[in-house]
Amino acid sequence: MSINQSGWRPEMTASSGTAAPTFTGNKALMLDEALIFEIGSTETTGVDFADAVELGASNRLGGLFREAAIGLPGLAEPEAVRHYTRLSRQNYAIDLGLFPLGSCTMKHNPRLNEKMARLPGFSDVHPLAPVDTVQGALEVIHQLSHWLVTLTGMTSVAMSPKAGAHGELCGILAIRAALEKRGEGTRKVILVPESAHGTNPATAAFAGFKVEDIPATADGRVDTAALIARLGPDVAGVMITNPNTCGLFERDLRTISDAVHAAGGYVYCDGANFNAIVGRVRPGDLGVDAMHINLHKTFSTPHGGGGPGSGPVVFSDALTPFAPLPFVEKQGDQFVLVEEETAGEHHAGSFGRMVAFHGQMGMFTRALTYILSHGADGLRQVAEDAVLNANYVLRSLADTLDAPFAGSGPCMHEAIFSDANLADGFSTLDVAKGLIDEGFHPMTVYFPLVVHGAMLVEPTETESKAALDQFIGALRSVAERAKAGDASLKSAPHFAPRSRLDETLAARKPVLVWKDAPLAEAAE
Ligand SMILES: *Cc1c(COP(=O)(O)O)cnc(C)c1O
Repeated sequence: MSINQSGWRPEMTASSGTAAPTFTGNKALMLDEALIFEIGSTETTGVDFADAVELGASNRLGGLFREAAIGLPGLAEPEAVRHYTRLSRQNYAIDLGLFPLGSCTMKHNPRLNEKMARLPGFSDVHPLAPVDTVQGALEVIHQLSHWLVTLTGMTSVAMSPKAGAHGELCGILAIRAALEKRGEGTRKVILVPESAHGTNPATAAFAGFKVEDIPATADGRVDTAALIARLGPDVAGVMITNPNTCGLFERDLRTISDAVHAAGGYVYCDGANFNAIVGRVRPGDLGVDAMHINLHKTFSTPHGGGGPGSGPVVFSDALTPFAPLPFVEKQGDQFVLVEEETAGEHHAGSFGRMVAFHGQMGMFTRALTYILSHGADGLRQVAEDAVLNANYVLRSLADTLDAPFAGSGPCMHEAIFSDANLADGFSTLDVAKGLIDEGFHPMTVYFPLVVHGAMLVEPTETESKAALDQFIGALRSVAERAKAGDASLKSAPHFAPRSRLDETLAARKPVLVWKDAPLAEAAE
């Protein structure tokens, strides 16, 4: 099948409304791209391999030797380069424009971070290298640990968790270990507000706890009275996001922490929204016992393209003995890796390890570069500007879209809207799809669940007023079309390589195997 034939998809152009079909399926410089199985062939390869057997090599694979053809399609080098370059152009990226995905902190990744992370001493380091050959890398981990503990007002930090959700698991496992040490492993309930990110209840359940919802008040915050009323001898702790996923600061967190502690429980804080308060608020002062920090959100290490995450977890005095290994410590002039429970004075009750090695070196280097290049005043300004930008978006659009908590005062780093005043038959999804035609990645939609048809916009501090104004103009225009019942919005996006997809079907019944794959034939 040729590129032209496979690229021509009449159903795509038919559903694209005004766009005239083209011979190729391309839309000007937006090139259509078929699957590699459609354009490649098992007869083609980009390299010439001499037959190993003819060269006299002996087969040392025993019974694992493949006898049938592998059946993978190949492309010549220029075709392979074009295939992947075309696919890459269908991605939206923070380097292309504003990325308003709420709760994700899609901020600019300073290039200085990248330059530092690529220094061979960091990029080529091996986790099994002898400790005295990697003193600089260990010093980076040690310094970053210091700043994370300082910025959060906590006692210690476990650097190894590889993402926010992994950090949640780390914190909850430390809570479980602390309870077991006290002989209170019977505390089996974790309280989670209904606005929480889905990873919170998933983490608690995965760690063997029973999850109970805590309702939100009409102003979008945790119902403190309901939470306190539920505390008791079966409650292990709470998981609270601050600022919360409605973009609001949980002003009662200190009161909640005191009550949870008095009732014998622990406080886990989901720190994914730390960008709103970094340099301004220390979670340790709010009575938090454990909190993950998404380095790939607050500290500008790249994410969203499948790159690695990093989710260090800071701990209070109470949980520090139970934190996972390893730790980097300075002993005299040497940085050492503490890998045994008995070795360190602070981690006698460690619950074990989260990962085989020490965490994401590249992300540590980027995050430390970011912290040192901003300094204390710069980090405080990050939080202030992130909050200012979100309030600018909120107030600029509150006349067009329903903003359910606009009356609760200023928001933190994200602005939240609902679908309340869209025309009948029009949804948040239509607005999100319309934004794609305007050249923006959509905001987070239908999360948090406490807001009907939620649209959660997090502009971050790295957007200029001009960029915000352009985004606000685009969102206002799309929202007005949805309010006026503009039918063309129902089939948006019109200018993207693909129009409306059945996303539910794609998620529930993903087709992961190319039906006519030569591989499948080879296997038969
Ligand atoms: C991003 C996020 C998480 C999960 O973090 P990952 O690094 O994606 O695993 C958890 N909670 C909230 C509120 C988040 O925004």
